Amino acid sequence: MSSKLFFLAIAALHPYEAVEPHMGTLFSIKLYAGDEKSAKQAFQAAFARIAQLDETLSDYKAESELTRVTLSSRAALSGDLFTVLSKGQWLSAQTDGAFDVTLGPLTHLWRQARRAHQLPSAEVLQEALSRSGFRKMHMDGQSVRFDVSGMQLDVGGIAKGYAADEALAVLSKLGIKSALVVASGDLAFSDAPPGEEGWKVAIEALDRPLLLTNAAVSTSGSAEQNFVVNGVRYSHIIDPKTGLGLTTSVTTTVIAPHGIDADGMATAINVLGLERGLAFIEKQSGVAAAFLIDQERRVVFSNRWPVAARSTSTPATDRLRRSERRP
Ligand code: AMP
Ligand code: MG
Repeated sequence: MSSKLFFLAIAALHPYEAVEPHMGTLFSIKLYAGDEKSAKQAFQAAFARIAQLDETLSDYKAESELTRVTLSSRAALSGDLFTVLSKGQWLSAQTDGAFDVTLGPLTHLWRQARRAHQLPSAEVLQEALSRSGFRKMHMDGQSVRFDVSGMQLDVGGIAKGYAADEALAVLSKLGIKSALVVASGDLAFSDAPPGEEGWKVAIEALDRPLLLTNAAVSTSGSAEQNFVVNGVRYSHIIDPKTGLGLTTSVTTTVIAPHGIDADGMATAINVLGLERGLAFIEKQSGVAAAFLIDQERRVVFSNRWPVAARSTSTPATDRLRRSERRP
C-alpha cells in the first residue's frame, strides 16, 4: 500500500461508542470503524461475548457454570471458567491467599450484612470460613475438585477484566484494531485512536493522565461499595484471614498487559496493603501499580509506573502549606 493510500485508510475511521449493562455494571465500548454498519456489528459481537461470560461466571445466577461446578465434588470446566479459576489460584498462591476466588460464602454474607446494616455473628463467620479457602480447591487438567461440600465461588474480583480482554479479542477478529472497553473500575484497550499516541486514562488523585496502548488499567477500593457499622467502614473486598470486609481505605490501581491481570492484581494488592502489595507488583513483568492512601491522600508508585504520569493532585491545604514555604 502506498503511503498516500495508507493515510486515506486511517483517515476514514470514525469513533463509535455504545453502552450495555452486564455483570451488574455498565460496559462501555469505544471503537474506531469505517462505517456505522460495521461498528454496530462489532458492538453486537463484543457485547454478546460479554453476556456469554456473564452466563458462565456469575455467582448470582443459579444456572451459571460457576454455580453448577460447586454442586459436585469434581467437575469438568469450560475454557473460560478454567482460565479464570486458574488465574485466581495462581494469584492466591502468589499472595498467600490474599486473593481468593473461594470466598463465595463470605461475599454472600457481606451482601446480606450490607442490606441489614449488621455484621454476621462470630459463629456464622466461622461456618462460612470453613467452606472457603483456595487450598480446598484443586485444579487437575481441565477439572476442578473441592475438599469440602458447600463451597461457593466468586470471581467478581477478576471477571470484568477478563471480559474486557475477550471483548477486545472479538473486536480484533472483526478487524477493529483500536478500541477501549470500560466496566466501572476496569479498562482494557488495543491500538491507539487513529492519529494519537495512546488512550488517555485519567486516574482520580493524579494530575496527569496515563497514555497507553495495548494494555489494561484496573482500580480497586472501598470507595464504590462499602457500608458502615458502629462507625467502622467495611469494604466489599474481604480479608480472607478474618472473613470481614477490609477496614483500610486504600485505593489501588494496576497497569498490566491484560485485563485479567490488572483486575485480579488490583484487588489482590488492595488486600495485601502497601508494603506487601508493592513487593508483589515489582516481581511481575510489565506491571505497575499506584497506591492511594486515602486518609493521607498520599500516592505511592511502583518502579514501572510511567514517569510522565507521576504527579499527584494534593489536597488544597497541602498545596497552601507548600506555597507558603516558597521564598
Ligand atoms: P474488584 O472490584 O475487582 O476489586 O473486586 C471486588 C469483588 O471481588 C468483590 O465484590 C467480591 O465479589 C470479590 N472479592 C472480595 N474479596 C476478595 C478477595 N479477597 N479475593 C478475591 N476476590 C474478592
Ligand atoms: Mg479486581
